[in-house]
Amino acid sequence: MTDLSDRYGAVTHEVVNQPTELSDYNMFDSDAALKEALSREGAAWAVEDVSRFGALTGSAAYLELGALANKHQPELDTHDRFGRRVDQINFHPAYHTLMQTAIEEGIHSSHWTDSKPGAHVARAAKFFLQSQVEAGHGCPITMTSAAVPSLMLQPDIAAQWVPKITARSYDARNLPAEQKTGLTVGMAMTEKQGGSDVRANTTRAIAVGAEGPGQAYELVGHKYFVSAPMCDAFLVLAQSSKGLSCFLLPRWRPDGSKNPIQIQRLKRKMGNVSNASCETELRGALAWMIGQEGRGVPTIIEMVAMTRFDCMIGSSGAMRAAVSQALHHCKQRGAFGKLLVDQPLMQNVLADLVLESEAATVLTMRIARSMDNRQVPHEDLLARLITAVGKYWICKRSPGHAFEAMECIGGSGVMEDSPMPRLYREAPVNAIWEGSGNVQCLDVLRALHKTPEVLSAYFEEVGKARGMNADLDRHVQQLQTDLDQGNDLEFRARDLVDRMATGIQAALLLQHAPDFVSDAFCASRLASTGAHQYGALPRSAQVRKIIDRAMI
Ligand SMILES: Cc1cc2nc3c(=O)[nH]c(=O)nc-3n(C[C@H](O)[C@H](O)[C@H](O)COP(=O)(O)OP(=O)(O)OC[C@H]3O[C@@H](n4cnc5c(N)ncnc54)[C@H](O)[C@@H]3O)c2cc1C
Repeated sequence: MTDLSDRYGAVTHEVVNQPTELSDYNMFDSDAALKEALSREGAAWAVEDVSRFGALTGSAAYLELGALANKHQPELDTHDRFGRRVDQINFHPAYHTLMQTAIEEGIHSSHWTDSKPGAHVARAAKFFLQSQVEAGHGCPITMTSAAVPSLMLQPDIAAQWVPKITARSYDARNLPAEQKTGLTVGMAMTEKQGGSDVRANTTRAIAVGAEGPGQAYELVGHKYFVSAPMCDAFLVLAQSSKGLSCFLLPRWRPDGSKNPIQIQRLKRKMGNVSNASCETELRGALAWMIGQEGRGVPTIIEMVAMTRFDCMIGSSGAMRAAVSQALHHCKQRGAFGKLLVDQPLMQNVLADLVLESEAATVLTMRIARSMDNRQVPHEDLLARLITAVGKYWICKRSPGHAFEAMECIGGSGVMEDSPMPRLYREAPVNAIWEGSGNVQCLDVLRALHKTPEVLSAYFEEVGKARGMNADLDRHVQQLQTDLDQGNDLEFRARDLVDRMATGIQAALLLQHAPDFVSDAFCASRLASTGAHQYGALPRSAQVRKIIDRAMI
């Protein structure tokens, strides 16, 4: 019988004008802004290693792990088939491979264990790359890393736990910590009645014997958001007799019995779905007090500060992932007789997305250097202030950026077999957890009030670019004036923090990026007035150069 398609020449499925998959590329080598920052901020020694890692993270097989870990979402078994309580989360093997790789690469610990100057910078670069593959598993990686400074406040407990927390061994078994080769740590602060305002926590801590730091307590209460509940232990806030205190709560008791941290259900999230988050009951769960009694918030804030910095890294990485997809698509897709990348209006949009992404990368890597140099007062003050400024600004810029990149790709960008929906749904999460936008802005005000030197450090840092761009000079002067008007700071906090963020990003770009990047950034972010969408760069912007610099 004649094939009808032959008879009519009716072959309909010739695929033309469709781009290739963005894969099998070196995610690090192709990222000029990241590459430059890695060496500039103090980790030139890590270039070879991070480049090796960039080849892995850009490989098709590795990128596929990110898709699989999200397609096959974690499932909860509260009990085993015999009815015994297990609180077991079952993940797709892709998730475990991502966790294992992150831990073997030291993304959870190299900045604590490696004494080389620039260890934070090198680790930030790796986390930036890993985040572009998959964000959800980044949550336990971050929390495990961030738990270390809080635990160090209780040296006896730290001596037992930190070596296995920082070990480069991923051990996913649901067993007591003593039997495992590597441990992960989560955190449980949020309760139903209050997330931002943890002082509202009602979970009770009852001393088993003696009271005080390092002592054993039993915790009774409910935690409304606990991510990565398969972690081996959690830093938890609870009320002891002297007020809100911080505790380390193991998943299993040292005697091998199950600690009653009972998972009630997994959250149904709109993004970050590879990461299990749950509601948990603590029914007399054993925990040890960490740090001073009644000083739970200052103790756990050591952890929270590091998670906030990781939100900056993750969202900067996500922006780079989004812009890479948009550029890769537009350089291959034609419309109205030209490639999209050659259409003037698309050039304006792409260049604007690149600027946002590069500014986020530069700020994040600069603060990684501060993390490496906390013994230098200027760096310590900068880290204190800019983790709040940058967490607020970069994480908030990410959702709009992801959406605009999706639109560059058009309808295919909306489809679930594209990476864009995952990037888009992931984007708001970093802005909301670890202190939502307003909370970050209020934290900036708190820092200004408690440690006024942070502001001098900010202006000193921004002042390094004084005289390089008239718009920045004006911007800084106006910011200074507006900060000096001390009334109603709380009402104006977002406006002030927005301007602090763009001011420091501009100053860094002026010092470290090509002129065509910094000039366009200043012209569009500091000089222009009124509300704009992406793609409203002024005529002076050298969009082709900006795009070429970021092109894969
Ligand atoms: C995916 C996911 C995973 C999470 N995992 C964890 C986890 O592992 N452990 C954990 O402890 N928590 C976790 N959380 C909880 C998260 O940290 C909280 O949702 C967050 O801190 C906000 O608290 P809330 O939801 O109670 O909102 P609220 O505290 O009620 O805040 C609501 C809004 O009010 C704003 N606001 C609060 N106070 C003020 C103020 N004074 N002035 C102006 N505005 C204000 C906030 O910025 C926010 O926008 C997770 C959340 C998500 C989404």
